[in-house]
Amino acid sequence: MCEKREGRLFGREDYSSEEFEKACTYPGEDLGANWSREKTVFRVWAPTASGVTVNLYQSGTPEAEDRLEQIPMEKGEMGTWTAEKAGDLNGVYYTYQAEVDGVSREACDPYARTTGVNGRRAMVIDLESTNPPGWDGDRNPHAGENFTDAVIYELHVRDLSSDPGSGIHHTGKFLGMIETGTCNSQGVPTGVDHIRELGITHLHLMPCYDYASVDEARLDQPQFNWGYDPLNFNVPEGSYATDPYHGEVRVSEMKKMIKGLHDQGISVIMDVVYNHVYDSGSFSFNQLVPGYFSRISPQGVYSNGSGCGNDTATERSMVRKYIVDSVKYWSEEYHIDGFRFDLVGLIDVETICAVMQAVHQKRPDVVFYGEGWSMWTELTKPGCAMTTQQNASLVPGFAFFSDTMRNALRGSVFDGNAKGFVSGGSGLEEAIERCFMGRPGWCDSPVQSVNYASCHDNRTLMDQITLAAPEASREEQVHMNNLAAAICLLSQGIPFFQAGEEMLRSKRRPDGGIVENSYNSPDGVNGLKWENLNQEEYRKTFRYYKGLIAFRRAHPVLRLTDSGQVGSRIQVVPDMPAHTVAFQLDGSGLEGESAEKLYVMFHAGDQALEAALPQGMWHVYIHGDTAGTGVLACVQGRVTVPPFSALVLVQEADRLGEEGPKEEKMDPQQEKSHRPGWLGGALLAGAALGTFWAVRGRKRQKSRPSRD
Ligand code: CA
Repeated sequence: MCEKREGRLFGREDYSSEEFEKACTYPGEDLGANWSREKTVFRVWAPTASGVTVNLYQSGTPEAEDRLEQIPMEKGEMGTWTAEKAGDLNGVYYTYQAEVDGVSREACDPYARTTGVNGRRAMVIDLESTNPPGWDGDRNPHAGENFTDAVIYELHVRDLSSDPGSGIHHTGKFLGMIETGTCNSQGVPTGVDHIRELGITHLHLMPCYDYASVDEARLDQPQFNWGYDPLNFNVPEGSYATDPYHGEVRVSEMKKMIKGLHDQGISVIMDVVYNHVYDSGSFSFNQLVPGYFSRISPQGVYSNGSGCGNDTATERSMVRKYIVDSVKYWSEEYHIDGFRFDLVGLIDVETICAVMQAVHQKRPDVVFYGEGWSMWTELTKPGCAMTTQQNASLVPGFAFFSDTMRNALRGSVFDGNAKGFVSGGSGLEEAIERCFMGRPGWCDSPVQSVNYASCHDNRTLMDQITLAAPEASREEQVHMNNLAAAICLLSQGIPFFQAGEEMLRSKRRPDGGIVENSYNSPDGVNGLKWENLNQEEYRKTFRYYKGLIAFRRAHPVLRLTDSGQVGSRIQVVPDMPAHTVAFQLDGSGLEGESAEKLYVMFHAGDQALEAALPQGMWHVYIHGDTAGTGVLACVQGRVTVPPFSALVLVQEADRLGEEGPKEEKMDPQQEKSHRPGWLGGALLAGAALGTFWAVRGRKRQKSRPSRD
């Protein structure tokens, strides 16, 4: 019995005590409604309740007066209550009603597998009946790869299909995510075809669990929200389903989406927001066990590190179990391949380690990362370490967004006018060098650093560049964008970018103003603008990203997994001019690596740079506007590097005898426009140069201050 020794019931003052946790931590796997054809067994954890009943309903519509039955629950083990109902209850809706301190509250099941409209009534479900054909054989297409092999693309479900130019039928729906053969008005591929062609490995979906801020009962009206306001953690969001009223539809359509993405070779990551809920008071868990889920001080003050008014008390045993159960459920029932933890700095390391351990038992291929910012939060127990960047060593295998790289690349997100390395900012070379090596300062291992220049938060990369470098031409701004992408995609760590960055995404109001926080902006601001791909500037940028991704995926030396390897294989080239960094990478003997040597340069100066190359013949793969896995040219001696651009050269033992450029990947349009200038010069320069790594600007550039 979950009672104190004196026979008194526990109260909220006991929630974080050892005595309470010892008596009331239920370890079983059967919380929720456990369906079988013969009967359904309900179990709910409500240790402070004096009585609990199950209400069965005909429909999932909260206002409908269609209760079928009330079943009193019996006291079970460790603070749980159980009830059993004979017969096939698949499709029957239910709630729990708990009486605590003389107050009776009706709530959805925190362990609901699905719900009716707007997530107020849970539904008993035969989960197997929601599986799409072939589900048993469905696998993570990137299982067995290292975390650093991933290329992550962050997308909101609505944004892919909300623009009329998408040509997608299921606008804003899970099903729209997997429509193939779609194109814009001029036949340019859109939707999942675009994503697949881009070559990313992991699609990170912004919240797809049931959130509160979109009214599922009026989907005929324009609504938009990112969804960082959880209502039911184990239920798919109803507005993404073609029918939010029937609980099985959202489940089957989300599974269908995941299967469809897997079939396209794309792994699926889910954005999970366990650090707070939409509304602490009405959240189901807190209705049944008042205040248990949230960090509330003895004086009744809600901890607010999240800025959402209620931080989750992850340090409590049944909250921790809830999060572990939830993540495990998504990975096993929905075949989700990775989890991005919102504000994970508010979650204790013990919980995160327990989550990873539980999931990895069956799914060692699942990846984990999150926002490890240090934030003040009022813990309910002393001595908990939080999952922050600084505590990275306590959560091996868990990666963190590198704001170090983001801010170095584009300037602080909190200052629109701040220049980053790519937009001409000064003194940022060393930060870029460290990030390139996967050593942002708070972790040592590339597998813990998520390298990015843009995500859904803050301005888009292109919008930030526009503000930070107003003196630059549009063409130069595009080059800055592409340079940021090259640095992210060639650095040690896990590359990540916001959907649409590869087509110069901009979030603008109708009056042209930049939207910094588009969490509830209309589709017109948020949707991916597919018609832009009718312009060469956007198509060229897409091709560049595609080429960078293909190049990264072709070279294991760019995807090392430990700092020892990084130290022994990568060297910073010293004495580069200001606004320029360069590296030499040694790929020899690395499994799957065709390159003996790579030479990588990022040049953010506003003038072209004439670079003297290390000895020997080099194959050019990335230069100017072009990137890919085809050799663009062979050079030795010198090469001209355009302003705001990346240069990547390779020496391959088995390919050095080859002559001339490979034709297949070279875009004829670009070949005409830029090749004669730089290539001719490079080839004519010859191999006479004696000094390794010496680089001189065509215009004399200021030398960098000493970095000791
Ligand atoms: Ca919802």
